[in-house]
Amino acid sequence: MIFGENKLVIAIFIGGFAGIMCGWLFGPKMLAIAWIGDLFLDALKMMIIPLIVGAVISGVTSLGDIRKLGKVGGITLLYYASTTACAVLIGLIMVNVIQPGDGINYQTEAISESISNRDNINLTELVRSLISPNIISAASNTQLLPIIVFCLLFGAALTTLGKNKTTIINFFDALNEAMMKLVMWIMVFAPLGIFCLVAGQFGKVGGGTAIKSELIAVGSYFFTVILGLTCHFLLLFIILIIFSKRGREYLFKLLRALLTAFGTASSSATLPLTMKCALEAGIDKRSVKFVLPIGATINMDGTALYESVAVMFIAQTYGISMGMEQQVIIFITATLAAIGAAGIPQAGLVTMLIVLNAVNLPAEGIGLILAVDWLLDRFRTTVNVWGDSVGVAIVETYLPTETASRNG
Ligand code: ASP
Repeated sequence: MIFGENKLVIAIFIGGFAGIMCGWLFGPKMLAIAWIGDLFLDALKMMIIPLIVGAVISGVTSLGDIRKLGKVGGITLLYYASTTACAVLIGLIMVNVIQPGDGINYQTEAISESISNRDNINLTELVRSLISPNIISAASNTQLLPIIVFCLLFGAALTTLGKNKTTIINFFDALNEAMMKLVMWIMVFAPLGIFCLVAGQFGKVGGGTAIKSELIAVGSYFFTVILGLTCHFLLLFIILIIFSKRGREYLFKLLRALLTAFGTASSSATLPLTMKCALEAGIDKRSVKFVLPIGATINMDGTALYESVAVMFIAQTYGISMGMEQQVIIFITATLAAIGAAGIPQAGLVTMLIVLNAVNLPAEGIGLILAVDWLLDRFRTTVNVWGDSVGVAIVETYLPTETASRNG
């Protein structure tokens, strides 16, 4: 490694901060360097499919047999479901207390066709997205959920094959380790990549003056989401301290991944780094390989929290009051919408239609929050990645001990 771990964290932090400052001050001029950020992002994305295939298959096989997989899987899902539910609850409490949409008379922006055309999205579609008839085309479109389901099943099948399985399992172990080496190399470019990504995005929206006027228009909504995300981040930290073997230093170890999540606004693109950081923090490899790829795809606490606040804000702005029953519907659908959101920039904006439809609010309401969404996206993605990172530390404590030696 060219940088030590601490130096890299500091360098990434400086990169992100300098990116914000330059994008704020120089505005659209920074678009000239945005391509360097995209290059870094592409390098991370390039890793996702081989990394997930190698990690999930070798993670599942390292758990031993299918019964153990069931137990660890159950704990993982319980963690995801309960923390996501907490996140939505925090969002609902915040938005009810602060009432950010009251008295706001803000012009809605036109929403793009890619969002408005998605109003047929529903629960059946969500469940169907678990299985793809063509695993190759799913991979080429970076649809991670069907890939993960396939790898889980494939890995589970391998565990039933007895001795013949060793060669193929070694293959996937090696694939996983080679991908981790690649991540280490790519990580060296993170400070520059994040600087260019952040500066480019701030520049794209017009720099400081434009951002300031957007923030003033929906400042109370922005503040509500940020406050909710901060509370949830701290709650996860407390959960980490109480239920895992990890202490405060774990947060520091994960900082590189969290800063990258902020820089890329994509939990999938951050996944390689999250895995690397968790491994370097000493988390059991089986937990890292099994929990993180699934978490990056379905566990999105930040997104769930933001969706509940956004939908309530839209209702408040339209002057529509949401009773207890409506809020229970928001609670359930925001949780599902977050599960359905892909780990890519602004995916939550699209799945929010599920929530809006469920409580009969117009899809155009999204136009109210569009202007600041790119910025909120970065904060909620950071919380999404933190949620996965805490999950991996908790599941680790429930792993069976007898197969710990086969830990490739
Ligand atoms: N950008 C988020 C992520 O990748 C998803 C979203 O909330 O839009 O985790």
